[in-house]
Order: sequence, then C-alpha cells, then structure tokens
Amino acid sequence: MWGSCMWQKHQRNKWGVITMEDNIIYLDNAASTKPYQVVLDEVRLAMLIDYGNPSALHPIGEKAKRLLEDSRQVIAHSINAEPEEIYFTSGATEANNWVKHIIRDNRYFYCSTIEHKSILDLSLNGNQILTGNNGVVSASDLGIALERRADSLVDPLISVMYVNNEVGTIQPIRYLSEIVHQYNGIFHTDATQAYTKIPIDVKELGVDMLSASGHKIYGPKGVGFLYISNKVQEQMFIQPLIRGGGQERKMRSGTENVPSIAGMAVAVKESISTMGNDTLAIRSTRDYMYEEIIKRISDCGTNVELGDNVVPSILNMYFDGVDGQELVILMGEKGVCASAGSACSSGNNLPSHVLKAMDISDERARSSVRFSLGHDTTRKDVDQAVKVIRECVESLRMF
Ligand code: PMP
Repeated sequence: MWGSCMWQKHQRNKWGVITMEDNIIYLDNAASTKPYQVVLDEVRLAMLIDYGNPSALHPIGEKAKRLLEDSRQVIAHSINAEPEEIYFTSGATEANNWVKHIIRDNRYFYCSTIEHKSILDLSLNGNQILTGNNGVVSASDLGIALERRADSLVDPLISVMYVNNEVGTIQPIRYLSEIVHQYNGIFHTDATQAYTKIPIDVKELGVDMLSASGHKIYGPKGVGFLYISNKVQEQMFIQPLIRGGGQERKMRSGTENVPSIAGMAVAVKESISTMGNDTLAIRSTRDYMYEEIIKRISDCGTNVELGDNVVPSILNMYFDGVDGQELVILMGEKGVCASAGSACSSGNNLPSHVLKAMDISDERARSSVRFSLGHDTTRKDVDQAVKVIRECVESLRMF
C-alpha cells in the first residue's frame, strides 16, 4: 500500500464513469490541494439543498443567505476579524486586483519584488521593495523607500505577501505594517500561502487588508476573500472592482458562490483544527525529503535555508545541469507531481522572478523545482518520489 497521498488517478470516460489509472504522488500542494472529504460533502449538500439565491426573499433564498453568513462568521473568526470585514471573491487573484482599486483617493503603490503576479502586475517598475537573498523583505528597506517619498502629496498603499509561494519564506508582516502606518499608509498582505498554515490575527499583525483563497487550504477553487478592516471602510472611500447587482454590501456584485464559500468555511475549520499537528508532521516529512535528496543526488541544494522563517510545506531545490521544467515533465510522466517555479507562471520558460529577486543566477533558477507537501504526504511517498527524482535527474544529465 502506498501512503494516503498516493491515490489512484481517476478519470472520467464519456459516460461519466470513473476509471482508475496509475499511482500518483502529489507534491504540488502550493499550486492547489485535494479537497477534504468534509468539503466535498458540504459543497454537495449546499448545491442540493441551499440552491436558492441568497438575495431572494423566500425561504430557500433565506436558507442560502444563512449559510453564506455562517460561513462569513467562520472565516472572520479564523483571522480575528468581524464578519462585515470579509468580502467574498472568486479567489486571491481577484482580491489582490481589487486592492489596487479599492481606495478612491490617490495613493502611490509599492509591493515587494517577490509578490505573486496578481500583485506584481499592478505595480510600476521601480515601485518595488527589494528582497534580500534570503527571500525576506527587509523592514529597513521598506522604511527607506517610504522615507524617500515622505514629502509626496499622496499617501502610500503597500502590499507584501505573508508567505512566498515559490520558496515559502515568511515575511515580517507585523514590523512592515507598523512602518507603513508611521507614514499614514494602508497595508495589505496576500496571505494565500499562509492562511491556515500559520496563525493569523489581523489585529495583532496590524494589517488593513488581507487576501486568501479556498483551493490552497483543501477547499474549492474559484473562491476566496478580501478582508478590509472596519477602520479602512469607515475612514476611506472604498469602491468595488466588480459592479452590478450590489451583492456583498454593494462592494462585489455577482450572485455569491454559496456552495464554494460554504466549502471554504469547512476547509478553514478543518485545517485550523489540525494546524498544530500538521505543521509538525509536514516539517518532519519535508526535512526528511531534503535529507534524502541531498544524500542520493549530487550537485543539488535548496534555494533558501530551511529555518524558522520558511513554511514547512515548501521545498524549493535546484539540480545543477538540469532544466527544471523538463524535470517536472519527466517526473510527471513517472507519477510525481511538482512545479518549476509557481504553477501559475510556469510554462513560460523564463527564470522565476522570485529566485531572480533573491540574486540567484538565471542558470540556477532554471534548474529549480518546487516540491510542496500536504497534510497527507507520507515518508513512503517521499521515498518513492526521491527514487523518481534521482532517475529523472540522472537521465536528464546524460544529455
Ligand atoms: N497569491 C499567491 C501567493 C498565490 O500562491 C496564488 C495562487 N498561485 C494566488 C495569489 C492566486 O490565487 P487564486 O488561484 O485563488 O486566484
């Protein structure tokens, strides 16, 4: 028997019948996760019995509305926020895009050089805070950038992600938000890779806005949220990104995706209740995987030191003399799923902007692969994966 993460690959034929294929070892949990069974049950039930439009004024609509508001409560509670501070979106990309447009008054926008593309693409070249070669944004660099603009006629809007999606580094959010507030700024964090993996208390962190996504936490795809603090809502003129029927208190139009929102809330409850144990288990399995790779494969290493400021689920490694994308494809053919860079931008054969920002050479960046473990990854999975990685690296190095 393989470990629980090594499940049978399911496929539907044209009659919708599920057939079994090869075994798969899934090490791409930072790209997306396999939903918990309780999430599947919740989504199915919500589609079956809470199918009304939550804006409708009849009992079926009211039932859907109740489920929506219960889910909002769960999510607000998970980050120590109030329900009216949570706005549901189609995912973190939409939440991040909204951040740049949300404040009506004119502000200058800065982000870090290692942000996800959905933030990075909103910034102007030159308006990015450099990241050290340890993959961590320095609070003093942020202070310098803000000081340089101190006599600007407009105030700052700053976005720095909580956990980087490619290398897993945890950013010093509390210090960064403190500095931003000294300059009358608004601070947003993209917490997509941090949410339910490390504890988040928006009040303690001092963040004004926060984005997260359902499918990174064993929940459904196409759903996420933006937290907007009451302070920002009361003191700023905020505006929607998507206009129409006026749902989400007129701030995000479109009928709410109630089944996915309910599924995300269940995923939040489940992953927060197991966070402590999962963190320990995943760290131990990730460290084991690193040791095994180093022991069995020559000329490879991690792109970031695996200390306390890296989440336990991510292992980003380079394999000298190998193209990361070719390695990912070859491993995939042998049943091991991983990514070269982030899944969202891999496929373009450019060296990762995150690794480049960390001063890693293009050659090394191109030879890098991200393995991301989940709560169900076992040492047996790792043993099998390392065997495959070794075979693939050796065969690619022969050419
Ligand atoms: N931010 C980060 C840090 C991410 O890792 C991702 C997903 N790759 C996103 C934003 C986008 O999330 P979504 O897929 O929900 O749009």
